[in-house]
Amino acid sequence: MGQGVSGVDQSSSDVTTYRIHRVMAEAWSHTALKDSLQVVADGVVEVVGFGVAAVSVLHDTGELEVVALAGDDDARDELLGTFSPLAGLMEELTVAEHWGPRLRFVPHELLGENVSTIGWVPDYEPVDSPDAWHPMDLLIALITDDAGQIRGSMSVDLPDDGMRPGPERRRQLELYAEQAARAILTAVERARLGERVRLADTARKVVREAAAELSSGALLDAARQAVVDGFDIQGLWLRTFEEPAGEQGRVHSSDGLEVVIPPVMVAMGERIARACWEHQRGLVVSTRREDWLLGSEDHQQICDFLTSVDVTSTLIVPLGAGQECLGVLALTRDDTDPDWSDAEITAALEIGHDLGRALLTARLFERERRLVDELQALDAYKSRLIATVSHELKTPLSTVIGHVEILEMDPELTTRGRTSVGAIGRGAHRLHNLVNSLLMLAKVGDPHNVMEPVPVDLGRALKEVAELLAMQAESRGLRLDLVTQQEAVVAHGDPYELDQLVTNLASNAVKYSVDGGRVELGVEAHPGAGVLELWVTDEGLGISESDQEQLFSEFFRSTNPQALKQPGTGLGLTIVARIVERHHGRIEVTSALGVGTTFRVTLPLAP
Ligand code: ADP
Repeated sequence: MGQGVSGVDQSSSDVTTYRIHRVMAEAWSHTALKDSLQVVADGVVEVVGFGVAAVSVLHDTGELEVVALAGDDDARDELLGTFSPLAGLMEELTVAEHWGPRLRFVPHELLGENVSTIGWVPDYEPVDSPDAWHPMDLLIALITDDAGQIRGSMSVDLPDDGMRPGPERRRQLELYAEQAARAILTAVERARLGERVRLADTARKVVREAAAELSSGALLDAARQAVVDGFDIQGLWLRTFEEPAGEQGRVHSSDGLEVVIPPVMVAMGERIARACWEHQRGLVVSTRREDWLLGSEDHQQICDFLTSVDVTSTLIVPLGAGQECLGVLALTRDDTDPDWSDAEITAALEIGHDLGRALLTARLFERERRLVDELQALDAYKSRLIATVSHELKTPLSTVIGHVEILEMDPELTTRGRTSVGAIGRGAHRLHNLVNSLLMLAKVGDPHNVMEPVPVDLGRALKEVAELLAMQAESRGLRLDLVTQQEAVVAHGDPYELDQLVTNLASNAVKYSVDGGRVELGVEAHPGAGVLELWVTDEGLGISESDQEQLFSEFFRSTNPQALKQPGTGLGLTIVARIVERHHGRIEVTSALGVGTTFRVTLPLAP
């Protein structure tokens, strides 16, 4: 067994090479395969009568590895587990005599001088005969697969009788070679199937991960890539029925080319997907397979189309969730690819389910997001409208108030005229307050209105408000207590807004108090926590629990008839809440009907 072995066809792409490599590694690592090949080698030695028989398998590196060897111990020690290039062997075999479908013989005299002599040359003296075996003779059986690709070899040396084998022993050698071939090809096939199942499973996993994508576009892109990578396919067509046919009528092929699908095929794809969804199954269309789900005319039409784009077969599975079929996934293969295995069809079907569910979620999410966007746009529009109208009202109102003041000073005004002017003045002032509140609300509710914060002493702000409300409180027999600290309690914010916050809370406390009660305004710093606390307490009407829930909504006014007797707009607390939010603070209310109310605001202390 002087000589080595040959080169695998390396024209395939890197990916294919990598995959073959994995398949082969898997196939050759099976001890079961080695055991079978050892049985073959033993048979050749014992039954056919050779001193040495070796079986090699081909790796994707183009090297043959000796995996089983029977007979001579020296040969075993030297050769088992060694690699030799197939290319060298093939070169030697160019001059070989074909002794049978697999058997090749190269007499030593035909072997060139500089051929590779990797391997083992027995220490052997040829017998004296024209048909005597020579130690440099090469007798080998090539093991090929259905496609004619070499997968391994079986070589022999040292015939027991010292002669080159005659017809009977050649026939026996062919038989053993066939057994070796069967073992090797079965192992390759098993490994390849395992590999395909593994790839399809990988695709499933990736599609599951892609399902986290919340936009259906991103989801489909991720899924498309995962399926192309995971299945050994030529192309992929993924379409959801919601999208217009024209936009999705393309096959993304693994080599980057795109095939446009004609509208009649798009329509047929949808029809097939719906039928498949109904039966919860996939469909393979190819010239080699016919399926009851598809009429023979449709079958022919699809096959014609497939042929026109150089595709041999397609696996179609539906995308869907629950009752609903949402789209179609079609994978294509050409005649160099293997046929679709059951495991692959199942994996593709499951991908259709996973994708369907993910699509539904993504669509729901998109719908929700659209709704939120619309509501936000509506809200922004409303705010702009209010701000514009308020602004336009302000100037004429100021004119009205100015003229009312002039009229009031007119000594010639009749009593009746004075009453009317007084009523106009009160009405104009209420309107003026409303307009001011609306403008304030628009200002503090506008996220584009950026605040420029400065230190604001809230103790002082409370004191000023107390002074402002003193007369009103006194007129109602209210006690107004101020609880502040010696030192300033300084917040960080907009002085005007913080003043408004304090004013709204304090004036509500006075407004909704019962005569003769007590109102307390207080502020305290908690430097340890980096916050200050401001509170406004009254012993007034109190707020029911259900009213408390809506207290900070725009235009909300109490359901308590006693509270409604007081003039108001229902905007004061909304403005307070927005100011607190803009200052990164918190507001809480505790209240009981007929007992009183406390508003507590927490704000960050100025740094
Ligand atoms: P307005 O006072 O203009 O109605 P607000 O937004 O300031 O609007 O207050 C909303 C509602 O909350 C009031 O109508 C009132 O019923 C209730 N409210 C606010 N502050 C108090 C309080 N201190 N005591 C009782 N009810 C209050």
